Amino acid sequence: MTFYVLTLFPEMVLEPLRFSVMGKALEKGVVRVKALNVRDYARDKHKMTDDYPYGGGQGMVMKPEPLVGTIRSVLSEDPRAWVVLLSPQGIPFTQKAAHRLSGFRTVALVCGRYEGVDERVRGFVNEEVSVGDYVLSGGELAALIVIEAVTRLLPGALHAPESAQEESFSGGMLEYPQYTRPAVFEGKAVPEILLSGNHQKIRQWRRKEALLRTWIRRPDLIRAQELSESERRLLEQLQDDP
Ligand code: SAM
Repeated sequence: MTFYVLTLFPEMVLEPLRFSVMGKALEKGVVRVKALNVRDYARDKHKMTDDYPYGGGQGMVMKPEPLVGTIRSVLSEDPRAWVVLLSPQGIPFTQKAAHRLSGFRTVALVCGRYEGVDERVRGFVNEEVSVGDYVLSGGELAALIVIEAVTRLLPGALHAPESAQEESFSGGMLEYPQYTRPAVFEGKAVPEILLSGNHQKIRQWRRKEALLRTWIRRPDLIRAQELSESERRLLEQLQDDP
């Protein structure tokens, strides 16, 4: 899979990707990331990429010509590239969206800056994605979030691919609590069941803990779940006696 990142700050995108899981995925060729500098596609001699907003107001707006020129250059490489505008006004980026994006051969991530992009750029993108209900100064950090979340789902990216299936959100719930050595830390012991070696019991305990944790922290996720009879009863008990 190939990601293109359309940005005024290519180094900001490439440098953080050199580490850990992402760095290895790049080394192994699981994923390729190309950062295109939008300024290279500016047409005027001053290479201007932003201008004052029509109608007045604060800040600058990214001009359409350099951005659309950069998008066209990606499409000339892969006409089926899926073009995503990072924007706080987009649909929320979720694990489900990451799965969906992992199905494309090429994804182009368009990073805005300043007050955002000229409205007409929206006519050249396939979708708008937001990484949360807050405003960043640019799309680069949002692009990194998308790249990392999608890459983890690609075959060969993770040492143990099952871990991506068990993680929070993948099964529609938050993950169960995790422990490692020591068995007792500052008086707090690891739950005994995890030391029992009984894998069936451990699986049941983890499912129950994931359920309780999700119900307490993210009840919105539980509503979309198919629960077994015993899980439903457990949640009813919790509601009666939290
Ligand atoms: N004036 C815009 C608005 O109110 O919707 C915000 C512009 S923001 C300062 C500059 C750029 O950062 C945006 O064009 C977008 O690319 C990126 N950005 C900011 N917040 C984001 C978010 N939550 N998700 C994705 N991209 C974001």
